[in-house]
Amino acid sequence: MRIFEGSWKSANAERTFAVPIEIGGRKLTLETTVYSRWQEFFTTDRLDGAVVQLLPTAMRLGENIKVEGAISAELAWLLETNGIPLLATLKNMRTVRIEAREYTTTPLCNPKFDAAMGFSGGVDSFSALFDLLKRPNLGPKLDVLMFNDFSSRRRRDPEATELDVSRVRNLAQRLELEFCEIRSNIAEIDVVGYGLAHSTSNVGGAFLLAGLFRTFIVASGYDAQMLGRDPSDAASIEPALLQSLSPPGRHAYLFGGHKTRVAKTRDIIEEPEVQTGLDVCLSRSPNHLNCGECEKCLRTLAAIEILGRLDKYDRLFDLNAYRQARGSFFYRMKVSNQVFLRELRLLAEAEGHQIARSIIWKGALSHSKLLVARYIRKTRGTLGRRIRLLRARLATHSG
Ligand SMILES: [Zn+2]
Repeated sequence: MRIFEGSWKSANAERTFAVPIEIGGRKLTLETTVYSRWQEFFTTDRLDGAVVQLLPTAMRLGENIKVEGAISAELAWLLETNGIPLLATLKNMRTVRIEAREYTTTPLCNPKFDAAMGFSGGVDSFSALFDLLKRPNLGPKLDVLMFNDFSSRRRRDPEATELDVSRVRNLAQRLELEFCEIRSNIAEIDVVGYGLAHSTSNVGGAFLLAGLFRTFIVASGYDAQMLGRDPSDAASIEPALLQSLSPPGRHAYLFGGHKTRVAKTRDIIEEPEVQTGLDVCLSRSPNHLNCGECEKCLRTLAAIEILGRLDKYDRLFDLNAYRQARGSFFYRMKVSNQVFLRELRLLAEAEGHQIARSIIWKGALSHSKLLVARYIRKTRGTLGRRIRLLRARLATHSG
């Protein structure tokens, strides 16, 4: 893989920093876009951000990285001695080398603000936000809320993305924080998928704005007990990984590892901002921000129901859809040891929460129907493939 020096492109009020790259002989461009007012805070004299963002792809393909420009010497050292070995513990990742035309020791300019946080509107980011604001003398001082679109969402779904962006922008305004949107096409280039690439995309991308803040806070998706448990999710190595992705004099900081998802939910559900703006959904429903029946909606609503606050969330979630789907979810909660389901089971026990047996039985039934349907679909595919192979073989023999 080769990474070349970048240049700016302008379109109306937006500025895009375009970095040409070559992967397996293919020429591509890594693009990062911000509004023009943030351009002056962008790092353009070195390719640190692009190297970090492209690292998982290079490691999956087993391609060494050749930087046809400068990289911070300290970052190159951190990646070689810490970042790459850690990422290599994840699924199907290979160790690679980074070679640069220039290793720079010139310090980055002094940043305008202390800390920024990526904010999605989910349980993890709301929990981190309120914890940071409530304890202003501990930890970094939060100045900037960032909307990081590193999955090309605005390109795929501009209207829904604009709604999400304006929600975060308004929240930042009410809390008297700066708001900054940054987006990139890294997801169209990376070959490893979101689970393995989110930490590097997020931190590498955010620190392209190293002139804006010193510390970048990542709201943790897991509590610290999950450290090293899931080789298909970069979150499981994040506490150790983040610092080795930061440029010199900057600091990526994981927040929320001290709390389970259930504890985070409990801590935020009384907040008016959460009751009007919580956004956890994997899909959408026409009349509600959250569909009420996807895995993340179910997980969140189950906790809210156990804590007795469902009535506060009827405008934000489709509670009719939830009531249809919750039986099979509560059944899974009873029998599964998946970490989030187990947490919910323990919460229900602690709160003495009872759910009617008839609902659980119905849930068990619809869950088993789902499993049977899935099994039939799977075996049909296999059988069909085998029959086709057999036919092809017979045809060759008879020919
Ligand atoms: Zn949903």
